[in-house]
Amino acid sequence: MVLLVASANGSVGMEAGWAILSSGGSALDAVEAATREVEDNPDDHSVGYDGYPNLLGTVELDASLMDGATRRAGTVGAVHGYRHPITIARAVLDRLPHVMVVGQGAERLASELGMQPEELLTEETRQVWRDGVDGRLEPNDSRRGLLDRISTLFTDPEHVAGTVNFLAIDGRGHIASAVSTSGWAWKYPGRLGDSPVIGAGNYCDDRYGAAACTGWGELAIRGVTAHSVVGGLAHGLGLEASAERAIADLSGLDVPGGEPIMQLVAIDRAGHHVGLSTHPGNTYVAWESGQSTFTTLPRRVVSLSG
Ligand code: ASP
Repeated sequence: MVLLVASANGSVGMEAGWAILSSGGSALDAVEAATREVEDNPDDHSVGYDGYPNLLGTVELDASLMDGATRRAGTVGAVHGYRHPITIARAVLDRLPHVMVVGQGAERLASELGMQPEELLTEETRQVWRDGVDGRLEPNDSRRGLLDRISTLFTDPEHVAGTVNFLAIDGRGHIASAVSTSGWAWKYPGRLGDSPVIGAGNYCDDRYGAAACTGWGELAIRGVTAHSVVGGLAHGLGLEASAERAIADLSGLDVPGGEPIMQLVAIDRAGHHVGLSTHPGNTYVAWESGQSTFTTLPRRVVSLSG
């Protein structure tokens, strides 16, 4: 049995991931390859190339990768100028005695890997940022005073659908998980979300299963949400109960200037999968052995209000 599960915007990477899994490749290689396709997709403004930028108009990327066999992980945060943070994260996992590398260190690593730096913002997305942020700053606070302005500017145009998650089980029963994002549009420079934080936006363990999140990263960090799902499995709860409990555990947490949004995909080691969302109308995708292509499935709604 092999399995590949993703957030809906991962559809563009499913073929690449499945090609690896179905020919006997590893779950880790599959989730990295699948994620790279999404990072290349200029139509996805929440991941990689042409992602929405931070408050200052710079695209700033976060990504993580975890290997459920060894529970080794590699993550990068606040990376500028490289469209494939997932591959930099893979190098952290494979080649460094560390888990997290951020900013200039991650960019240095990318350059040592031979990756080419490039401008990640297109003219079209720069214009969205100008309309949403730059044009609304007073002349005096365009490069300072951002602290006082961030709450009124903090409206992410794609806040329900951002970030990509991939979870995979390979033919040897090993599990891997990957997450990549440009984070919340117009975020404060240097802000890290849940995507590069192991346990928050991404977690997997061959013994139990895996989970990954999209939505308000600050909530998933405070709730350690991905680990919370896998912890439920470890304690004998079923997959759906573990996932529902992890989201319900966020009830009552405040979200300054916004409404709480959380989504997750999760799998158990037997290959069951589930997608949850705090909001209706959202989907995820899954491809299992025996299917000729992936299917799009509804996410079950778990409300955080009331
Ligand atoms: N979770 C991501 C972050 O907080 C954003 C998202 O999923 O839309 O950076």
